[in-house]
Amino acid sequence: MENWQELEQKLFMRITKRLPVTLIRGQGARVWDTEGKEYLDFVAGWAVNSLGHCHPEVVKALTEQAKTLIQASNQFYTIPQLQLAKLLVDNSCLDRVFFCNSGAEANEGAIKLARRYGKLHLNGANEIITAYGSFHGRTLITVAATGQDKHQQPYIPLPGGFVHVNYDSIEAIKAATTDKTCAVMLEPIQGEGGVNVPGDNYLKEIRAWCDEKGVLLILDEIQTGIGRVGSLFGYELYGVEPDIMTLAKGLGGGVPIGAFLAKERASVFVPGDHGSTFGGNPLVCAAGVATLKFIIDNDLLSQVKRVGQYFISGLEKLKAKFDFIVEIRGCGLLLALKFADNISDEMVMACLKEGLLANAVKPDILRFMPPLIITEKEVDKALGILEIVFSRRS
Ligand SMILES: *Cc1c(COP(=O)(O)O)cnc(C)c1O
Repeated sequence: MENWQELEQKLFMRITKRLPVTLIRGQGARVWDTEGKEYLDFVAGWAVNSLGHCHPEVVKALTEQAKTLIQASNQFYTIPQLQLAKLLVDNSCLDRVFFCNSGAEANEGAIKLARRYGKLHLNGANEIITAYGSFHGRTLITVAATGQDKHQQPYIPLPGGFVHVNYDSIEAIKAATTDKTCAVMLEPIQGEGGVNVPGDNYLKEIRAWCDEKGVLLILDEIQTGIGRVGSLFGYELYGVEPDIMTLAKGLGGGVPIGAFLAKERASVFVPGDHGSTFGGNPLVCAAGVATLKFIIDNDLLSQVKRVGQYFISGLEKLKAKFDFIVEIRGCGLLLALKFADNISDEMVMACLKEGLLANAVKPDILRFMPPLIITEKEVDKALGILEIVFSRRS
C-alpha cells in the first residue's frame, strides 16, 4: 500500500495541518481509515456533510444526475438549479439567488452586490463593517473582510473598504457607521472565531440600525445555515431578516456549492455584473435539492434542536466534573467546549485515538459539528469518549 501521508509531505504545499489519518470511506456519522479503524465523525467535513456521509438520498441524486447532465453553463436554463433556487427562496426570507462554488465565493458576490447597491442608492458608499473574530473566507477580499490579524498579516496590502468592530456590540457598529457605509456583514454565530454566540438582541438592534441608516445587513450563514443551529437559517434564531445572506458548507450535503441570496430591493445586479462557470451546475444542485428536501420533509430541524440540547446537557455534566472545562457554547449542532488552557490540539489527538473526530477551532476551544442526522445514541458514545479522554488528563 502507498504511504499516502509521506506522499502528501512530498507533493503538497505546506498549508494544511492534517491529522495523521487517511480516510477512505464514510457512512452516516462514521468514517473509516486505511487501517480499517472506525471513527465517530463530529466534524462532518467542517460542517459540510449535513446528512452524514454518503446519505442514500444524496448518493441517489448525484448518481442519477451524473448519468443525465453534469455541466451545461449558465447560458442555458437547467432544472436542478431552479429546483434548488425555489427551495431556498420558498424557505427563507430572501427573494433571489446566485449560485457559486464555495463560501468565499458566496461572500465575494455578496460584497460586490453591496458595493453595487451603494453606488446606486447610497451616493457611492462602499465601506462594509465587519467584526473582529469573524471568518469570511480565504480570497483576498474575504480575508480583508475577516477580522483576524493572523489571516490578514501575510497578505498585506489587502483590498480596502472594510471597517472592523468588536462583535456583539451594537454601540461599536453605530460608532463605525458613516456616510461611506453600504453594509454591515456578520455571522449570526461566529464559527471559526470559536463559536461565539452574541446576545439575544444584538442582531435585532443591528437590523433596526441598518434600517435607520438605509444600509444593508449581510449575514454570512455559510456555517450557521442549512439547519446547523436548529433552525434552517441562523437569522431565525434572532427574529431578524437579512438583506443578503450567504450559504455554502452544508448546502450540498457534501459537494462544493455556495450561494448568495438577496431581498428584491437589494438584488441590483444587471446582466454582466457577475458570473460563474461552474456555479449552479446540475450535479451539485441535484445534491443540494436532495439535502434540503430531506431536511425539510423529515423535520430534521426538530431532531437537531432535540439532540443538540441533549448534547449540551451532556457537555454541561462534563464541565461540572472537570474543572479545566470553563464554558459550553453554541446552538443546535454547532457546539464548543472552552478549556482553561491551550489543550484543544492535544484533546483532538486523544479523541482521535479513541475513535472520535473533533475540531480544535482555537488553541483553547474544541468545536463539534456532527452531521444533522446524529442520534442521542451517537452523542452518548461521543460523550463517553470525551469523558475517558478528560479523565486521563485530570
Ligand atoms: C467556512 C466559512 C467560509 C469560507 O467558506 P469556503 O467554502 O472555505 O470558502 C466563510 N464564512 C464562514 C462563516 C465560514 O464558516
